[in-house]
Amino acid sequence: MAKEEEDDKLPDQDAAKEFYAKYEPKEILGRGISSTVRRCIEKETGKAFAAKIIDLSNDNNSEGVSAKEATKQEVAILRHVAGHSYIIELQDVFESPTFIFLVFELCKNGELFDYLTSVVTLSEKKTRYIMRQVLEGVAHIHARNIVHRDLKPENILLDDNLNVKITDFGFAKKLAEGELVHELCGTPGYLAPETLKCSMFEDAPGYSYEVDVWACGVIMYTLLVGCPPFWHRKQMVMLRNIMEGKYSFSSPEWADISEEPKDLIRRLLVVDPKQRISIDDALRHPFFHTMQLWDQDIAPLKYALRKNSRRFSRISEMALKLHHRKFQARQKFQWAILVVRAMIRLQRLKFTPEPLSLDTARTDPYRVKLLRKIVDGCAFRVYGHWVKKGEGQNRAALFENIPKTELKHIYVTNLSR
Ligand code: ADP
Ligand code: MG
Repeated sequence: MAKEEEDDKLPDQDAAKEFYAKYEPKEILGRGISSTVRRCIEKETGKAFAAKIIDLSNDNNSEGVSAKEATKQEVAILRHVAGHSYIIELQDVFESPTFIFLVFELCKNGELFDYLTSVVTLSEKKTRYIMRQVLEGVAHIHARNIVHRDLKPENILLDDNLNVKITDFGFAKKLAEGELVHELCGTPGYLAPETLKCSMFEDAPGYSYEVDVWACGVIMYTLLVGCPPFWHRKQMVMLRNIMEGKYSFSSPEWADISEEPKDLIRRLLVVDPKQRISIDDALRHPFFHTMQLWDQDIAPLKYALRKNSRRFSRISEMALKLHHRKFQARQKFQWAILVVRAMIRLQRLKFTPEPLSLDTARTDPYRVKLLRKIVDGCAFRVYGHWVKKGEGQNRAALFENIPKTELKHIYVTNLSR
């Protein structure tokens, strides 16, 4: 029987009486190595949940930890990190001799991975929104002395309001004070250099919480431009690039992205874990400062505007007058919004795309942001289903737009005819 058909089969009623008594299983939401996740309905309330059904029938006790043991560890960790807005909530656990059922809150918007594939890239604003939540979630996990070890867009779910829920604690581990671990686990493209070193050198010192910080850097890079920082058709080359921290901001997408997110990525993707930015410092990075502008008084705003342009300082002058005359909360708020918007626009002036030149559009369309968005959007619409999850991640392949030498040659000869 094909693997997929086998997975689609529901555990028989006898094996899981308690689960069936309480929940009605529905369609499949996702799959892991030894689990299938289905939407299910709580019979009593009609509320929807997600049930991770772990098959124990092929459990092999001779090799390492059994699936049953691993799941018990996962449940213990899930309970230990519970109670945070950005961490998935475990609702129920059922156990039978052949299956374990973990019932989670349902994330209707699925994986960040699929969301990214559907939109190709995220704006700086959306990236800020998502990354702040991811980092806050990870900070909470670390504060509970847990290292996640498999952070990636497949394991970051989105709820109804596109808020983050970190999930899949299958590789997570509780660390003792100062403990360093050596096991190689995670997903190749997201592995930190110090994890790879453990599998290559006998005397490697081991790794700790910083591996999750590295993974956050890989995720943030991927969200902004759609393709991961470390990718190569040959996995050995990719792993070498990770070890050397070799990535670049050279693809055309980066030209439209401001300095702050680049600076944060540079600090997250530092090869030496001791020099890598801490989660708390990452959250304090200027990339996340923008929201604080709303809390500031209007006076420094006026000063900043004056520095930027006379025209906008006049607007702020008017806003100020309004502010002093009498308290008109609504109007004051509307003015403040106008002023802040104008200021942001001014600051971003240098990122405004150049006017569309027909010449560039014909010879190098990928350089033009508007055309690039259309090209990438079409590529993802047609070939998006090729973008593989997990180990075979090849999202980057859809961004390979450098013409092959022989094709370029044919194109040039055709043009010159
Ligand atoms: P595995 O350890 O096998 O990778 P995960 O816990 O990552 O299992 O779940 C596999 C997939 O199932 C996820 O990537 C996601 O697509 C889907 N999934 C898991 N939990 C939920 C949930 N609570 N809501 C919606 N989808 C989920
Ligand atoms: Mg997973």
